[in-house]
This record gives sequence, structure tokens and C-alpha cells, in this order.
Amino acid sequence: MIEIKNVTKVYYPKKCNKKVAIDNISFSLPNNGLIFLLGKSGSGKSTLLNLIGTLDKPTSGSILFNGENISDFSEKKLTNYRSSHVGFVFQEFNLLDEFNVYDNINLVVDGKQKNVNKHKINKCLNLVGLNNFGHRKVGDLSGGEKQRVAVARALIKEPSIILADEPTGNLDSTNSCQIFNIFKEISKSCLVVVVSHDKDSAFKYADSIFEIEDGKIINNTIKDIQKEFFERKLIIKPHIGFIKRIKLAFGMLKVKKIKLIITILLLAIAFSLFSISYSFMKFNIPKTHAETMIHENERTIILNKGTINNYKLYNMLTKKEINDITRDLNSKYYIESYLYSENKLAELKLSFNPKYTDLQSNAYYSIYNEYLKFLTFNAKELGEFNIIGTIPNEANEVLISELLADYLTIYGFKNYSINKNGDVNYYDKFVETKEDLIGEKVYVENGFIVISGIIKDEKLKEFEVLKSISQQQMKKKPTNLYNKFRSLYENNLFNLYISEEFINQTSLKPNYIIDRSTFENVVYFDSREYYDGLGLKIFSENLEIYDGNKLKKINSINDGEIILSSNAVEMLSNGRTVEKFQIKAKELNEDFLKKVKEREQKIKEQQEALQNDPNYIYHEIPEIEEPNLEKLIQDIIIEEIKTQNIIGKEITIEMLDKNHIYSNSDSVYHTFKIIGVVFSDSYSYVGQDMINYSFDNFIASSVYIDESNEIELINIFEKFDNKDYEMKTRFSSSINSIAKVVYSVENISNYILLVFLIFSVLLLIVFVSSNLNVHKRKIGILRALGISTSEVVKIFMLEGVIIAFGAFILSMSGTIVLINFVNNYITKELFFFVRPVIFYWESVLNVVMIIILVIIISLILPTIKLSKCHPIDLIRNNK
Ligand code: ADP
Repeated sequence: MIEIKNVTKVYYPKKCNKKVAIDNISFSLPNNGLIFLLGKSGSGKSTLLNLIGTLDKPTSGSILFNGENISDFSEKKLTNYRSSHVGFVFQEFNLLDEFNVYDNINLVVDGKQKNVNKHKINKCLNLVGLNNFGHRKVGDLSGGEKQRVAVARALIKEPSIILADEPTGNLDSTNSCQIFNIFKEISKSCLVVVVSHDKDSAFKYADSIFEIEDGKIINNTIKDIQKEFFERKLIIKPHIGFIKRIKLAFGMLKVKKIKLIITILLLAIAFSLFSISYSFMKFNIPKTHAETMIHENERTIILNKGTINNYKLYNMLTKKEINDITRDLNSKYYIESYLYSENKLAELKLSFNPKYTDLQSNAYYSIYNEYLKFLTFNAKELGEFNIIGTIPNEANEVLISELLADYLTIYGFKNYSINKNGDVNYYDKFVETKEDLIGEKVYVENGFIVISGIIKDEKLKEFEVLKSISQQQMKKKPTNLYNKFRSLYENNLFNLYISEEFINQTSLKPNYIIDRSTFENVVYFDSREYYDGLGLKIFSENLEIYDGNKLKKINSINDGEIILSSNAVEMLSNGRTVEKFQIKAKELNEDFLKKVKEREQKIKEQQEALQNDPNYIYHEIPEIEEPNLEKLIQDIIIEEIKTQNIIGKEITIEMLDKNHIYSNSDSVYHTFKIIGVVFSDSYSYVGQDMINYSFDNFIASSVYIDESNEIELINIFEKFDNKDYEMKTRFSSSINSIAKVVYSVENISNYILLVFLIFSVLLLIVFVSSNLNVHKRKIGILRALGISTSEVVKIFMLEGVIIAFGAFILSMSGTIVLINFVNNYITKELFFFVRPVIFYWESVLNVVMIIILVIIISLILPTIKLSKCHPIDLIRNNK
């Protein structure tokens, strides 16, 4: 039994005065029978029906269902009441067009009981005369058929009450009859309330008639109401399965196609920018570099001293540094030295073979290195080379590369012979084939090397064609092959592969002149510090020095002694000598000019006298001697030496062991006794102890690391990525320029990333919530059918996920294509494989997380609003 007690419903339309739709009505409804609710349009019929169906709430009064006031029900209880006890039939059918007949009905029952449902649904369809209509699409049905589906949908739940609002309003009389007959039939076991203004049908079908006018009862034929409750029922919980949810979501998305496409495209752009920016942010030089090396089959990293404050230090690596570098190194490595002779780096003397003039101008022979580099290997490593000839056994024996062997055969080289008197005679030597080079002596600066073997190089065959291409042509328009050739061999053509004994035994010695940068900075003398440093040279010849009393020749220097250059004395005088020199030189020059003028005056006077008197006797006037400035500076320096008592005193030079410009604890101090000054040279001279020191400490110019494992390569790049060392491969400069570009793009792209992220978040929020608005009516219907708000929200959430997923697939494929394009373009330009931008799956994960967050956020407010709305307001779409 349903009891309506003093129910009033007042509307407050926006522009008009308040409207009393139901005016203090009280009556009861039985548990079964077909009841017609009659009245003119606007009399309040629908309002009353909606109040009973809980699609709306009364302004005052109560509606009791089985003794409980349904106006006080919580949202959850209301949903249960609608889903289990009430079946609605609307004038506009309110079916879901995207589903077939079966699914429309299936939507409102407990989705978990599949087989039971199937049977039940067929029974219901049978009841409404729609046998075998299950798979028909709702959109293809006639109005009468649609309404019968709607009735079947109401029946399926076996509800206590069926509420039908003008169910035949849109139907012809035949169809109307059918519907009323069905209602008549089912009203035997449940209560059917039909809102209608069709009095004829009412009299024909109704068990009772209930008539209202202006919200008041004017006729009520309902009688014999027993006070009995509706049967208790199991609560039906309509469960919309995933497939149905997807169907619903797609159905709703179809409504605004253009808006949908634009949203997906904009989102895709935003996501793409996000992942590209992310890739830029993640740009990693070690990884890129290592990957390139692996792809290009390059195994060598060269480690030199680094730069500090943009000040490049070319000094040698110390023993300690080499130990530091190699201690934890898992890779093979070898040490490179530049060898010096006197003040020059050792240089190979090529000749010019007239026989091959044409070949020498070819691209293959176009590489030229100025200096030789000596790479030290131990015996085991030497044994691993694939060579023609033998590995170096004797002092001065070296291995050369096959390419250098080609060069020496074509160009020829300097050799020498010694005659009976012991005189050395140098001459150009030409051999026929590469193999003939083995055993040959090659003149290098003031010494010689002996070629013991040639290291075979399979790669060279590929470049053979360059022998028939002119160098000139390649300079104008280089081919890929030529560029590859140069990048492979340019820096190592003149590498000589030597055993560990070579350096000790050859006449070439490293550091005959000790690089100023190794002891740059501080010189201590007479408790003063000088920051200019000294140029040091090892004493090796007869030298004229000033020993404090006189100039004299000396033939040797003892350890711990130094002969200062006049430059050094100049430094120790703090500029005094220069000042003195400038003053003195000016005086001497002025004096000289004065004397020149006086002489010219005298000559003029004599010439005049000679004109007046032809017998005048002309006196020759001697030339004025120019001032000897060299002698002057020497005198001033000697004066300074005497004033400061320099000779015999001690001077200390700070030798920096490490790459530091400023004094530090790693410094080594060498103290020398000054034994004289040399005027002719800018170097100060020291003895053999210094060569021993520098030889022991500054032993190599580079360490070559040989590695072919990517992880190890990355480790090495990361480990030595500091100011102390500089790492180089043949890709370094290109990769560094790429890095510069990437970093500058990265700076901007961070902002772009932020802007687009905000943009995409807003876009998604706007779309999802506006879509919720567009589909208000559908939401209202779903809720009227007893589907909970949370179930409805899940559908919209899925809708958001579908949009985001579409955008995501689009953007990810776009990003991958774009990244590949960029990488391929750079690779093509640089002639070697490089992948500076890498697609990161983390970025995808981030995007997905952001999407989910955005969807949740964008649904929070609309959901709260939705749950506060009465379903009827959503269906009428007036809130
Ligand atoms: P009927 O179904 O008998 O045609 P209704 O129950 O739909 O009548 O409406 C009764 C009265 O209440 C009408 O005057 C109608 O304009 C008014 N009304 C109904 N719903 C609203 C609403 N949401 N806001 C304002 N007025 C309403």
C-alpha cells in the first residue's frame, strides 16, 4: 500500500510567481490494479507520478511505501527503491538507442545472473508480443514497438509499481490498445499507475480512476484498500559490465563528434610536446655517446687533462693521475706520449716520390698529421695485434698502421747512412711494396725508428676507391665515404705502437723543455712570490753566462743549480730594470739626436763657408755612434744582479702535480741555487734532475681506453665527466654541439611543457564536465531506472579514459615518428649513427597518470552536483 499524506509540491519557476503543482493531497493506492490518473494538461499529474516514483521530492507531506516515508530515504535507499520496486514507462520511451532490445532490458537487472536474465528477458518480450526482437536495434523499431520494449524493461524487475507517464501519447490507437491490454494483464499482480488525459481508455481499462485539477483531487474511485504491505523483495543492483559501459561511453561520445575530434587532437599535441620535452630533459651525453660508439664500431676514448676556468692545460698526465685513472678501469687501456726533441715535437719526415705524383694528390693520401704519437703497449697486448712482420723487440722498434704503411710506400721517407769517417748522411728512401718497409729505419727528428711490423686493417679495403678520387674534388664536395675515412684515420694516422721499453731507450725524450703550465704560477725568491712562472730548458750545450763577476763559458750544470734567463732577472726586479732601461735609453737617444743635429749644423756651416770662400778647407766630421741598447740592458741586468745579490741565492719553483692553477697541497717545490744569468735566451737552464723529475711525473699526454661494452662505456663517460679530465672520441665535437642545441631547447621546452600540461588538463576538464551537461537527460533516465550515481560516473570516467587513450595513442605514435625523424636527420648530416633524443616509456607513464588524475578531478564537482539533483530535473533538463 502506498499512502500519500498531505503532500504539497510547490515550484519556484525562475521568472514567474511560485506554482503550487500539488495542493495538500491525501489518498492511498492499493497493491495491484490499473489506476488511471486523469486531469487536464498542467493539472499536476506528472508531478504526482514523479513524487511516487521518487524522481522528485514533495515540498511538504509524506509518501509512505510499506509504512516507510520515502521522502526521508537516503540516496542509496532511493536507488534501491527505484531499482527494485518501481518500473517507469515514459511518453518518449527513453530507451538507449546505441543498444539492442535485449541490452536495453538487461541494463536494469542484476548483470551477474546472465542465464537467469536471458530466460526472463525472453519471457518479458513474449509478454509484450516482441518474440525474437532481442537482437533488433532500438533505433530501427516503430513507436509502438519501442514503447513495448520500454514496458518489458519495466516488467523485467517484477516491480511492485509500474508508473507510466502518458505511455500512449506518441502512439496511434492500435498501438495504444496493445499497451493498455498489456497493462491490464500485468495489473493483476502489481500496481500500474497510468497518467493520461484519455478518458475513453480510462473508462475502458481502468480499475479505478483518480482525477485532479489544479493540484487538487476532484474525483477518486479507488476503494476497498486493504492495509497490506507490498511483498518484500531482494534488492536488485543493476551492474553495468565493462562492455556495456564502453558502449554507453561511445554512444555518448558520438553526439558531439567535431568537438571530440578537436579535443583529441589538441590533447594529442599536448601529450606529444610533453613526451618530446621529457626526452629532451632526459638527454644524456654518456648514453648517447656510448650508443654511437657501439653502432659505429668505435672502441677508443682518449683521456687528456681537462680545462679549468676555460684555461686549457696541455700538460702531461702525472704518474699519480694515470694510477687514478686506471685503478678501477675494467677496460683495456694504453698510454700515449708525445716525444720531444729539443723544442719540437717529434715529426716524421716524409719524402716525395716522383713515381707516384699522381697518386699523392688522391683523397686516400690526403691526411696529414704534424706530430707523431707514441702509444705504449705491454708485451701481451702487442701480441694480440694482427700484424705483418714482428712485434717490437729491440729498442726503437715500432709497429705502424697499414694506412701509414701505404703512405710511406707512396711518399717515401728519410733514411740515413754513416760513412767510414762516421759522418751521417741523410737520403730519401723509396720501397716497392708495404712489406719492404719492415726492417727499414725511418728518420724522426734527431733520432730514428725501425719498423718491425705493420698492423693489418680490414676496414681499409672499403676506402680503396678513394685512391681514384682527387683530393681537390673531395674538398669541394665530400662524399660520405670520404668523411667516414677522415673521421676514422685523421687523428691516428701517425700513431706509432711501441713497447714499454721504447721511451727509456730512444734518443727522443719527452719534456726536454718542461712545459711552463706544469709549474705555472709561483716562483719564490728572497721571501717574495712571483706569479709569472719561468720557462725551463734542460742544460745541454756550451753556454755563455754571467757568473756575478764576468761572462764565461760553461759546459755542465750540477743538479740543484739554475742559470736564470735575463727575463727571470727582469721578473725578480719587479719591473725596475725595464723602468731604468726606458729612462736610460731615452737619455741616450736624446743625446744621440742632439749630437746628430750638432753634426748636421757644423756640416752646414762649413758648406756655407766653402761657398763664400772657395779656398776654405773642409774638415770631415765623424758619424755619431748609435747607442748600444743591448749593452745597456745587459749593464742594467748586471746592476740588478749586484743590487739584489742574486747569484748564489736560492730560488724555489712550484711544480703543480695536478691540473690546478692556484697553489695547492699537490704542489712539489724545487729549490735551485742560482749560478749565473744567460743573456741570449728566454729560457732558464736546469740540470738532469729536472728531466728525471718531469720524466717520472709527467709521463703521458693521454690515456687511450679501449672498450666495446656499452654499459662500461657509459660508466667511463660518467666517471671522467669532471674538470680534471677531458674525454675525446671521434664523435666528441659533434655530440657536444648536439648537446648545446638540446640544452638550449630544453630550457624553453620546460616552459612549453608546463603550459601544455596545464592546457591539456583544462581541456580534459572542460570536455568531460561539458559532456556531463550534454548528457544530463540520459543520466536522469539511468537514475530513474535505478542505476546509482556512482555507476553513472563510472561511465563518464570511462569516456574520459577513451578520449585520453585515443589522444595518447595518437601522440605516442606521433612522438616516436618525430623522434626517429630527428635522429635520422642528425645521423644523415653527421655521417655517423646518433640518437640524441630517445623515447622514454616513463613519459608515457607520467602522461597516463596525469590523465587519470585529471579525469578524477574533472568529475568531482559535476558528480557532487549530479547527486544533489532530482532525476526528473535532469530528464526535463531544466537545472
Ligand atoms: P501535467 O502532468 O498534469 O500536465 P505537471 O505535473 O507536469 O502537469 O505540472 C503541473 C504544474 O507544475 C504545471 O503548471 C507546470 O507548469 C508546473 N511545473 C511542473 N514542473 C515544474 C518545474 N520543474 N518547475 C516549474 N514549474 C513546474
